[in-house]
Amino acid sequence: MGKPSSNNEAGSNASAAPIVEIFSSIQGEGLRAGERHCFVRLAGCNRACAYCDTPLGRSVPENARIEQYATRRDFEESKNPLTAQNVRNACMNLDLPPGFHHAAAVTGGEPLLHPDFLGELLPLLKQNGWTTLLETNGTLPDELASIIDSVDVVSMDMKLESATEEPAGFDLHESFLEIAAQTDVYVKLVVVEKTTEAELAAAGKIVAGVNKAIPLIIQPCTKPDGRSFAVSQDSLENFAAICRKYLGRVEIIPQLHRLHRIP
Ligand code: SF4
Repeated sequence: MGKPSSNNEAGSNASAAPIVEIFSSIQGEGLRAGERHCFVRLAGCNRACAYCDTPLGRSVPENARIEQYATRRDFEESKNPLTAQNVRNACMNLDLPPGFHHAAAVTGGEPLLHPDFLGELLPLLKQNGWTTLLETNGTLPDELASIIDSVDVVSMDMKLESATEEPAGFDLHESFLEIAAQTDVYVKLVVVEKTTEAELAAAGKIVAGVNKAIPLIIQPCTKPDGRSFAVSQDSLENFAAICRKYLGRVEIIPQLHRLHRIP
């Protein structure tokens, strides 16, 4: 399998997007934590969460960093934007031996800011046998609807005002989840100590209104040291108990990649 092709290779439709990085790592969040994923991090975000741990994903870099061999962290740079075919080639190049990764995880930033690009990339990946996982802040339902047929798993955040220090958008989250429910979706809530029981109840009711079987992950906000949480264990247990009034599967899962200092 060759190296990723240069960024001026023409795809069939040649939609392009700014990419921060493409790399192999262990998934650290949500129900798929522990699986090896090939991450494609797109640039740009429509939110500004106070706890954001991917600030690089919110700006557009001149060059994308592309790992050449899985686990070696041997990055080469390629000028942005990259076409869907470029990104597909980079993912295939990393997937040695074939099937080494459980999924291709498209992340950000907010990847749905680039729906035309995803509309080319995701079918390309699926044609090549990849399971596609979309990590999203769950606020762009129209964009999700345009690509939903090529998404296998949606890892959807519901943003709580207590944690993000931005207004919540539960109406958008509800519309988004109704579409995401066509996939193997799970919902993540990042919580902090000042998160309220009312926020948890509101989120739990929205998810249950779409489907009570959708798994809900309560994710304690990780402090900057990467090893401790901005919320107590008692609060986490209380938050989970509130959500279990509405939902069949509620789990508390921290960011494993930060605890283990995995990229
Ligand atoms: S949605 Fe994600 S990438 Fe965007 S600001 Fe929030 S945490 Fe950061």
